[in-house]
Amino acid sequence: MNDPRLAHRLAQHRTVAAWLHYQVGAEKRASEKLQAAGEQVRAEQHATVVAYLEYLLKGERDTIGQLETQQAELGPIRFKLQPRTTTLPPHLHRADCWMAPTGGSTYDAHRARLAMNDAVLKVRACDACDPIPAIEEAERTGTASMDGP
Ligand SMILES: [Zn+2]
Repeated sequence: MNDPRLAHRLAQHRTVAAWLHYQVGAEKRASEKLQAAGEQVRAEQHATVVAYLEYLLKGERDTIGQLETQQAELGPIRFKLQPRTTTLPPHLHRADCWMAPTGGSTYDAHRARLAMNDAVLKVRACDACDPIPAIEEAERTGTASMDGP
């Protein structure tokens, strides 16, 4: 968390992984549609693209895992709350997410969990940085409560 270059690299790889994940789904749907329409050759072309994109996605996820390990060695993860707007509900981000608000307070995983569970706030998890696994990891490793009572 204390190395902005590491956080920036992680954010970039998460963005690429999210894009690849989306493309895999789109190519799979295209392949299934063509398969159902009896267009075997074109369906197989899309299936080949799916396999290649999944290979790239695995590489990105491996890199993200390595960077997260490096980041974990730097200290517990922090979170940020993006306030509600007229069109969007409040969103919870990892503090290093490119979509997180700049400046403002950061929160430990315990407070992030409280925000996520608040029935009135109705906080959503950011799709880009996917903060829930990081909250669960902090809870599992006993690093969730770092801010005191
Ligand atoms: Zn985010």
